[in-house]
Amino acid sequence: MLKGKTALVTGSTSGIGLGIAKALAAQGANIVLNGFGDVQGPTAEVAALGVQVAYHGADMSKPAEIEAMMKFAAERFGRIDILVNNAGIQHVARIENFPVERWDAIIAINLSSAFHATRLALPAMKAANWGRIINVASVHGLVASAEKSAYVTAKHGVVGLTKVTALENATTGVTCNAICPGWVLTPLVQKQVDAKAAALGLSDSDATRLLLGEKEPSQQFTTPEELGALAVFFCSAAGNNVRGVAWNMDGGWTAQ
Ligand code: NAD
Repeated sequence: MLKGKTALVTGSTSGIGLGIAKALAAQGANIVLNGFGDVQGPTAEVAALGVQVAYHGADMSKPAEIEAMMKFAAERFGRIDILVNNAGIQHVARIENFPVERWDAIIAINLSSAFHATRLALPAMKAANWGRIINVASVHGLVASAEKSAYVTAKHGVVGLTKVTALENATTGVTCNAICPGWVLTPLVQKQVDAKAAALGLSDSDATRLLLGEKEPSQQFTTPEELGALAVFFCSAAGNNVRGVAWNMDGGWTAQ
């Protein structure tokens, strides 16, 4: 379905980004990976799906590096057809104790990077009259949790940016939508399980049960594969007129 298209997925060396990159690759899209840590493993996993893969290590907190990555992708593949703004980090602390440097980093990586990548991707998408911008927000783009001020602020901002991007391009073939996952068991969440286990003296499985029980009625993690399938739907012809939604996949979290 996506043969001949190119998808750039930020923060795709791990977790949800890698899951979405693989789902898009399985539909034939060439992939530009981005993120830190192991690059060879994710590159091989995506290449095994029979598509071309490139990698750019832009630090998404740095606008100049984002610009270099977008240029690199356009030079390598001609155009970015699908942009998935996914890179994100978390820090948990009450507002009065929240490290200022962590606040700045979360706003830069989880919110401003999506603005920069979007503004740089739009001209070529509009010229082609086809494009998909998918922002990985969170349930925390829709509701709040204590001790996550920067994250909740950034994710509400991402949902707002999604709506504006959708509206500004509503008469074109460029759509923009957000995905709002509940808990997904990735390194980002495992750190929160570990912190709970350490603080309360619990085993990993008891801390995991507690984490799910506090918020997610289904008591189940959403998987990167399920999120990838939703991204594929947004890229399909059936998604042509889906514009500006913040689609939760959260086991009932925000239905409460
Ligand atoms: P993860 O830690 O597994 O992956 C994060 C990715 O972002 C990695 O590839 C990492 O290298 C990359 N990254 C981090 N800082 C970066 C930077 N400065 N520049 C470039 N890349 C950077 O986390 P994840 O859970 O897969 O999170 C992906 C996205 O999904 C995030 O935006 C997160 O907020 C969102 N999300 C996660 C959950 C969850 O439960 N895991 C729920 C809702 C939303």
